[in-house]
Amino acid sequence: MKYKELVEIYEKLEKTSKRLEKTFIISEFLKKIKKEDLEEIINLLRGNVFPVWEEKKIGVSEKLVIKSISRIAGINDKEIEKKWAKIGDLGKVAEELIKNKKQTSLEEKELNLNKVFENLRKLASLEGEGTVDKKVGLISELLSNAQPIEARYIVRTILEDLRIGVAESTLRDAIVWAYLGKELKIKYINENLELEDRKNYDFIIERTQYNYDLCNDFVEVAKNIIEYGIDFHKKTKLSGGKPINVMLYPKAESIEDGFKSVGKPAAIEQKYDGFRLLLIKYKGKINLFTRRLENVTKQFPDIVMLTEEQIKGDDFILDSETIAVNSNGQWLPFQALSQRIKRKYDIQDIIKKIPIIIRIFDVVKYNNENLMEKPFIERRKLLEKIVKKSNKFDIAEQIITDNLEEAKKFYEKSLISGNEGIMMKDLNGKYQPGRRVGYGVKIKPILETLDLIIVAAEWGTGKRSKWLSSFTLSTIDKESFLEIGKVGTGIKEKSEEGVSFKELTRLLKPLIIEEKGRIVKLKPKIVVEVAYEEIQKSTTYTSGFALRFPRILGIKEDRRPKDVNDITSINNIFIKQRNRFIK
Ligand code: ATP
Repeated sequence: MKYKELVEIYEKLEKTSKRLEKTFIISEFLKKIKKEDLEEIINLLRGNVFPVWEEKKIGVSEKLVIKSISRIAGINDKEIEKKWAKIGDLGKVAEELIKNKKQTSLEEKELNLNKVFENLRKLASLEGEGTVDKKVGLISELLSNAQPIEARYIVRTILEDLRIGVAESTLRDAIVWAYLGKELKIKYINENLELEDRKNYDFIIERTQYNYDLCNDFVEVAKNIIEYGIDFHKKTKLSGGKPINVMLYPKAESIEDGFKSVGKPAAIEQKYDGFRLLLIKYKGKINLFTRRLENVTKQFPDIVMLTEEQIKGDDFILDSETIAVNSNGQWLPFQALSQRIKRKYDIQDIIKKIPIIIRIFDVVKYNNENLMEKPFIERRKLLEKIVKKSNKFDIAEQIITDNLEEAKKFYEKSLISGNEGIMMKDLNGKYQPGRRVGYGVKIKPILETLDLIIVAAEWGTGKRSKWLSSFTLSTIDKESFLEIGKVGTGIKEKSEEGVSFKELTRLLKPLIIEEKGRIVKLKPKIVVEVAYEEIQKSTTYTSGFALRFPRILGIKEDRRPKDVNDITSINNIFIKQRNRFIK
């Protein structure tokens, strides 16, 4: 297949923002493609050449792409950078430069889909000496044979920023429309989806999502549907060593509410303040995945060893929390761990500096059996059997109770030992991948919101390129502003829904004092109310603090810069939060 055919689809997708239309465009395309192109097409439609959880990444920097464009277009890097700053999209820069070049060049070879895919995959496996040159070689080879419009998408795919606005759910629906369209009597007419049996359609979409949550691989989902047809969901298995989307837990306001949600008696566990880790063993090989499906096996050889030594069995998926501890064995807050996740070299050093402990709280697959439908109490019993416990590697501390006082005591104890709160779980609850369902709830103390001031911002990319989309927040120390973090969440796309990017941009644009690339410095004027999960110590920001998961709740028009939460108040909240008690 010619790469051009896929590029035509990209263009169509980029031109429309309508989700149903995008679904229709992709589904019509999928109907036409050959089976042997399926893997490449599905991955490329996601703007990648590997499934999300694959350890290998294309991993090419913008600088290297610029170098490759420069080689093909015969224009120096600086010029390209200038154009990039102006247009904000290296893909379009490549397109424009290749357009100019093409007018003078005659040689032309049509690009093949397999060739593009192959070169992109090769980029991910290059290592060692001469890598940069080889990478530039692979990219230049593609660009030299590319039509201008093809260059746009090649560059964007390399940079993993395809900008065609295809969400996971759109691709999921398109697969259903393509391969089960007839059975489900799907009709897309005048931009509307017409269905004879809405319920059945919703059921199939839900099962497709479930299938995806088990493997995070649309190629596998599509192959299942093609092979088994409308009954694919009866045959879907937890296959291989692919990571699942983990189950999430809604928040309960109090222990009483918790009991209401999960029933009595309930299993109550400490809510450890670390990061979630899937421990997967398949065909004797262990892999570790974060909740965002990053493969962090290389960063944690210590966990791999513990898993190897302390879990019986050769095939399992366990759900766990990893917590950092200091040399006295005291638990450290989450941010200590982020150093471990980011570190790709001198691993042995950092293992010593930031040791970790693991608490396993669920098992979803064991010896090739999917345990998701089994009651939680049975899964926990299995954990008790298969985990050889130690201080470092244990199952989550748990009590089973229907007694409010006992539960409260456990909550208090959990907070005092430095945890975030507790989890309350339904003894009969299933494991529902990828969802925030009520088979378990979390309870943690509510922290007060902060009023902070916006001192800088960043222009967005893609469809947000006209808006400022990331905002630097500051607290105040007497007269000076001290940065405490960046926020991009909580802000809405549409003004009707609350504080929007558009509105913030309108308010902040006149306040710009300096502009460097996409970053703008602002006169400190706009005060916002910010919610967050926790205040952390940080060396990144001048205040010495950072906010975990900040989100803007609203603009505080009535506040002046000097009214914002000052550094002393932030320090007080920080201390209070470390000694949290139940109200
Ligand atoms: P939060 O920021 O509150 O951790 P979240 O969005 O990361 O929330 P939720 O599913 O809402 O995830 O909350 C539960 C989280 O708590 C899990 O994702 C997991 O990382 C962590 N956790 C700690 N201890 C446990 C436990 N015993 N059982 C389940 N989850 C636990």
